[in-house]
Amino acid sequence: MKRRQFVGGLAAAAGVTACSSDSVECEKGLGQPAESFEWSCVTSWPPKFPGLGIAVDNFAERVEAASSGRLKIKVYGGGELVPAFECFDAVSRGTVEMGNDASYYHKGKIAAAQFFTAVPFGMNHLELSGWLHYGGGLELWRELYAPFNIVPFPCGNTGVQMGGWFNREINSVGDLKGLKMRIPGLGGEVIKRAGGTPIAMPGSEVFTSLKTGTIDAAEWVGAYNDIAFGMHEAAKYYYYPGWQEPGAGLELMINATAWASLPPDLQAIVEISCQSITTDMMAEYTHGNAIALQQLMDDPDVEVRPYPDEVLRLLKSHTKDIVDEISAVDPTWKKIADSYYAFLEKSTENQRTTEWANLKTRDL
Ligand code: CA
Repeated sequence: MKRRQFVGGLAAAAGVTACSSDSVECEKGLGQPAESFEWSCVTSWPPKFPGLGIAVDNFAERVEAASSGRLKIKVYGGGELVPAFECFDAVSRGTVEMGNDASYYHKGKIAAAQFFTAVPFGMNHLELSGWLHYGGGLELWRELYAPFNIVPFPCGNTGVQMGGWFNREINSVGDLKGLKMRIPGLGGEVIKRAGGTPIAMPGSEVFTSLKTGTIDAAEWVGAYNDIAFGMHEAAKYYYYPGWQEPGAGLELMINATAWASLPPDLQAIVEISCQSITTDMMAEYTHGNAIALQQLMDDPDVEVRPYPDEVLRLLKSHTKDIVDEISAVDPTWKKIADSYYAFLEKSTENQRTTEWANLKTRDL
């Protein structure tokens, strides 16, 4: 009896209901039956897709397990409940409580959202996490989404991507002219300025568009995800590096009203689960990319090639021009860009002296 009281007391002190409604503790009023939630999460990803789609399923499972079933989340693939690119609106309106996609898909609505996924020649996944969690980035992100009644959470990162699949060789800047390329976000604007035509389309449409020649080139993610779509069967040249997305962060969006309705312990479970997904996704991509890239390099029908420096220099200079031009007319963009680039500048010397210097020793 003493032990039961002790356990009940601990649970009450922790704000947790440790009893079912007919237990002794509940009869004594030591705890109330906990409220349960059943939420929906829409995504931009093909269901169960390696990395992106699996991560959000894992997130839902972790939240349900950690909350003893008090927060159940049903995950919908892109297009199952709402179109793949309409997650933001669905969460904003409260049609669903949660959405999982990449913030740069909303660039038409809020240009500055792109900084929270990736900008060309920008931060890698470590730097993005550093800026978001310790450098003020997450506060800026939440401020940006507040008018839309959405609370964003960093939830996953693909790491550095690959440059993309091409059905023509890119030997000089002239080869970008007239290039029809699937490339979202700011990277698309950069390609446009270089004379190409950027096209935004959900991942599920990329393979067919490339195979049928509707587009000449496409960037998707990296070896692990690209091989899953069969991109190597739709194009021959696989260019690197992924200048357009040096470390693409994914987002979990929660309707602000729904978020406020969650008790603090469930809020903590959601937040911790997002962080665990970011770590887990990096592990999955690091492992999956290593194996898939080797497979592609061994494929006689695939040529893995570096972009010429001349092309990268041009794309980098266009990126800087575009960022500066938007800063001149959009104060919200400027505020976020200033914070982003101030940290990137500080971080570059550290990365050069640590990560890059260490990687170079592998070739000694
Ligand atoms: Ca990409």
